Amino acid sequence: MANSKYEYVRNFELDDSALPSTWMVVRIDGRGFHGFSDMHTFDKPNDLKALGVMNKAAIEVMKNIRDITIAYGQSDEYSFVLPPSCNLYSRRISKIISTVVSLFASNYAMHWSEYFPDRKLLVAPCFDARLVCYPTKKVLRDYLSWRQADCHINNLYNTAFWAIVHSGKSEQEAEEKLRGTFSKDKNEILFSEFNINYNSLAPVYRKGSVIIRKETEVKSISAQTGKEVSRQKRVPTVLHDDIIGDKFWEEHPELLA
Ligand code: ATP
Ligand code: ATP
Ligand code: MG
Ligand code: MG
Ligand code: MG
Ligand code: MG
Repeated sequence: MANSKYEYVRNFELDDSALPSTWMVVRIDGRGFHGFSDMHTFDKPNDLKALGVMNKAAIEVMKNIRDITIAYGQSDEYSFVLPPSCNLYSRRISKIISTVVSLFASNYAMHWSEYFPDRKLLVAPCFDARLVCYPTKKVLRDYLSWRQADCHINNLYNTAFWAIVHSGKSEQEAEEKLRGTFSKDKNEILFSEFNINYNSLAPVYRKGSVIIRKETEVKSISAQTGKEVSRQKRVPTVLHDDIIGDKFWEEHPELLA
């Protein structure tokens, strides 16, 4: 198109491309999900269906944006990792962030009713997002360890808090009882007072969710022959593994290649 006299305004757009050859991580987080979870009567401390919608939205983001190699989610947040070689939108930060977060939010809304068939979505779910560049594999792993450690700390606290509340105490009493306690104290309260062995809780709560592209055999009917054919496809798959230790990374060396 011919240049118009207005075109100079493009020069006001700043260059916001991410540092080259670094790992880019987009983290989205639900806006006001404390209230959102009350309004939609999520189970406390953990609503499994709510985690299901989050995981579904993240899978759809990964299907759409093929550059993402791994994603990690817990509570109302998800982190998406793009490798140093990624050239999506020429690494322009605002383009990448806004595409990821809008895809996530629209898929969250679109798939809500599959997880909550009897509960209307009462407000438009909203997520914020940021993109951070990490220079080395070590820092990227430390970032993911930080999020999984956060999941553990919050989940242990919330599990103890809601066990106390569900036993008939007020939220204020529960908070007072847990104030200043260490992990071992919370484990002890759960075990001795509520007969809950924290380590036997489902890994989805304790570890959060990791999504990687797993080689999976996919069967389909051939349009030409009408016969069933199978082929290998890399399908975004949810795991609840520990990603702090070395084992996971040794099993999936391609993730840090
Ligand atoms: P902000 O807008 O600053 O992020 P927020 O209210 O979303 O505020 P967060 O720190 O992100 O605060 O915490 C999210 C909250 O959402 C949790 O504290 C919890 O109350 C609720 N929540 C999220 N997912 C679940 C779930 N699966 N089950 C139960 N509650 C959940
Ligand atoms: P990109 O992802 O690069 O933005 P795009 O296909 O969205 O690619 P745009 O330059 O944003 O390309 O153009 C949007 C296109 O969407 C228009 O060219 C037109 O084909 C279509 N479109 C948008 N709004 C309308 C509308 N109201 N009626 C008909 N077509 C529309
Ligand atoms: Mg936030
Ligand atoms: Mg939030
Ligand atoms: Mg959060
Ligand atoms: Mg467009």
